[in-house]
Amino acid sequence: MVTKDANSTLAESLGKIVGSENVLLTSEARTQYASDQWWYAIAAAAAGEAISKPDVAVSPTTPEQVAQIIKLANNLHVPVTPWGGGSGVQGAANADKGGIILDLKKLNRVRAIDKRSLTCVVEAGKICKEFEAELNADGLSFTHYPASTEWATIGGSISARGSGVLSTKYGKIEDHILSLEFVTPTGELVTTPSVPRHAAGPELTQLLVGAEGTLGIVTAATVKLHNLPNQRTFVVAAFPTLKDGVEAGRIIMTSGLKPAVMRLYDAEAAAHSLARAVGSDLQLTTLVMMFDGEYSELVNHEAKIATEICQDYHASILSEDIGAVWWDKRYVFYYPPYAPELPSIWGTVDVVADFEHIEAVYEETTKAIRAACPAEFNLSLNTHFSHWYEWGSMIYARMKVPTGPADLTEAKELHDAIFRAGVEAAMKAGAVMNDHHGVGIRLAPFMPAQYGAGMDSLKRIKQALDPNNILCPGKLSL
Ligand SMILES: Cc1cc2nc3c(=O)[nH]c(=O)nc-3n(C[C@H](O)[C@H](O)[C@H](O)COP(=O)(O)OP(=O)(O)OC[C@H]3O[C@@H](n4cnc5c(N)ncnc54)[C@H](O)[C@@H]3O)c2cc1C
Repeated sequence: MVTKDANSTLAESLGKIVGSENVLLTSEARTQYASDQWWYAIAAAAAGEAISKPDVAVSPTTPEQVAQIIKLANNLHVPVTPWGGGSGVQGAANADKGGIILDLKKLNRVRAIDKRSLTCVVEAGKICKEFEAELNADGLSFTHYPASTEWATIGGSISARGSGVLSTKYGKIEDHILSLEFVTPTGELVTTPSVPRHAAGPELTQLLVGAEGTLGIVTAATVKLHNLPNQRTFVVAAFPTLKDGVEAGRIIMTSGLKPAVMRLYDAEAAAHSLARAVGSDLQLTTLVMMFDGEYSELVNHEAKIATEICQDYHASILSEDIGAVWWDKRYVFYYPPYAPELPSIWGTVDVVADFEHIEAVYEETTKAIRAACPAEFNLSLNTHFSHWYEWGSMIYARMKVPTGPADLTEAKELHDAIFRAGVEAAMKAGAVMNDHHGVGIRLAPFMPAQYGAGMDSLKRIKQALDPNNILCPGKLSL
């Protein structure tokens, strides 16, 4: 952290780079960037104890300005925390060590669209929803649909290794990226090789994906596009047991079928969350699938085969209208009145594992989360398997404590105990500790256990690239 006078000097120097209208002084910066969407960051800010304490915030409009800001920060040894939409749920974007918040939202141009290759160069601060709307107007799609699409930026999605509701067919964000433009922690502007499938050495592009701002500032990305589909077909199936649903999902994913959406809600999530959103009475484990594409015969044929696979696993096939309503309402789960607000405690343990381990991960994680919360707090837990791969799936265990302890420290202890239990049980059962929300402050303590001896390699990469430890110091446990 820098002193008050130093803050003014820093703001003046930043103003010379970006114009004073693009610099916020301490009190405004601390108001505007008081928290991301991590429950504890929100609760602490509401209690007047914000963990995000920027000394100044700056909004560059060009990559060259980003490079100059990072050089300045190096000269002054001031920490820099990049900020996209501030929609992260792990605490990553909070300036917990003070210094500069680097808000990238003014870096928001679509620089070029190549309709022949179906690629696009988009700047990092572009909001996902705005990007998608612009592409849709031209018959195109980015196909990255996070539930936070109204806030999340392209750069934030890349940096937190995000995923959207269509990931099962179109991939996680890392699958959408061909190349990146980024500013190194010492202020050089770099562009990575133009395509990701090459044998020209290691994949530098992917080093930045999921780095949460610790290894560089993403300023633009060359991304894949798709044509908007002509056909969307829904399949909704109810299974007598979770095991049947998981097994049907495994067969679908290992058969070469490509559902764009595949969400398996356990019985609690189906009855309490999905049923409410789609307006149907659902009591059993429920699978919502959507197939899409250019050729309706192909799409409908895929849906038919997937239906038969579900029936092989004892499913009752429900009205496809439920799927269509789900599609229309796919984001409502994450906003009031569905989404929790203070004084609740909430959060998601989202972990990923292969099919060999996935059921044990589900059993152990949900059991540990429930056991970690004293009965008096009435924890609710809704779990779904929402991003599927050819080799496994992610598990999204969404917990809520309606009213936690009034004291912030006690509330945090309860939150941490529930998370620790869930994450440790998941990892012990064979999962990787996160699928698409990133690490942030919340999961940083688990990094050494996740990486083992590999943690030393990560730290050495960080030290080599960022000798002054300017970018997000302490984040990712680096
Ligand atoms: C209601 C809700 C629903 C959500 N649903 C989803 C979902 O469906 N899928 C999903 O993946 N996530 C989801 N999230 C989590 C969140 O939206 C994602 O993590 C998202 O990718 C964060 O993007 P952002 O632009 O808001 O990044 P921020 O929160 O601003 O930042 C995230 C991290 O990236 C760093 N960063 C930001 N921009 C850059 C950059 N240009 N260069 C380098 N580092 C950078 C920040 O320092 C921070 O470490 C949800 C969150 C909420 C609140």
